[in-house]
Amino acid sequence: MKILEIKNFSVGYENGYVLNDISFSVFKGELLCILGRNGSGKTTLIKGIQKLIPNIKGEVYIEGIKINGLGPKQIARKVAYVPQLSDFIFQFTVKELIEMARYVHQGGIFKLTESDRKKINEAMEFTQIKEFQKRRIAHLSGGERKRVLIARALAQDTPLIFLDEPSAHLDLNFQIEIYRLLFNLCKEKGKTIVCTEHNINLVIPFCDRIIFLNNGGIFKEGKPNEIVNEENIKQVYNTTVKVRKNPETGLPEIYFIK
Ligand code: ADP
Repeated sequence: MKILEIKNFSVGYENGYVLNDISFSVFKGELLCILGRNGSGKTTLIKGIQKLIPNIKGEVYIEGIKINGLGPKQIARKVAYVPQLSDFIFQFTVKELIEMARYVHQGGIFKLTESDRKKINEAMEFTQIKEFQKRRIAHLSGGERKRVLIARALAQDTPLIFLDEPSAHLDLNFQIEIYRLLFNLCKEKGKTIVCTEHNINLVIPFCDRIIFLNNGGIFKEGKPNEIVNEENIKQVYNTTVKVRKNPETGLPEIYFIK
């Protein structure tokens, strides 16, 4: 079942489109990673799909519903967005920040219902952050903050979640932990996840599909073992690396010689 479908989509800024005429679909339970060089348009794409960038053209469907005509609150009922860390969250406690996610499901005065509290509780349990729910975001480590933002996205209770570089600024342990969490969200909770990423080796074991962006469009789209090879990496990143098959997982793995 298609959760997200993008047809002939272009997105950019005042000085023109960054990405032109892109089409792709994402299916229920999939973890899709968008990869490409710095400035290739990864963030612009995931923001544009949510109409967070004004200069867009083309069609976006979520669960078969065209969202082009929908307002921000209606879109936020369908897509939760985990940006790279933003300063505004630091003043809040963990619980306060997660509670705000329920706002999109309410009209009028914001008051949490029993069902809201249940969703908030489930989100905190799944991401294992209950123990520090009263602490301020400012006093948490990078990995804990990331889990809180994912909990907020879960409490928003949308079929689709976008994340912008979820592994950025995290140590190796947290990088793997975050991707395990995202993988489990797709496979156990049936969420559909689209994330941008730089660390290819990190995402290969977890993601179902990769999209490589290059030159204002989709360069290649496919499963890691179909498209992660030396030639494609050279084209996308303009650098020479080696790719071998990991003997234990059978998946491609990038390495380089100094
Ligand atoms: P990536 O996430 O792949 O690093 P971005 O989507 O951030 O790439 O940026 C894609 C292009 O859009 C870059 O050339 C960048 O300079 C440009 N860009 C990003 N944000 C803005 C903006 N607010 N106004 C104008 N150009 C922007």
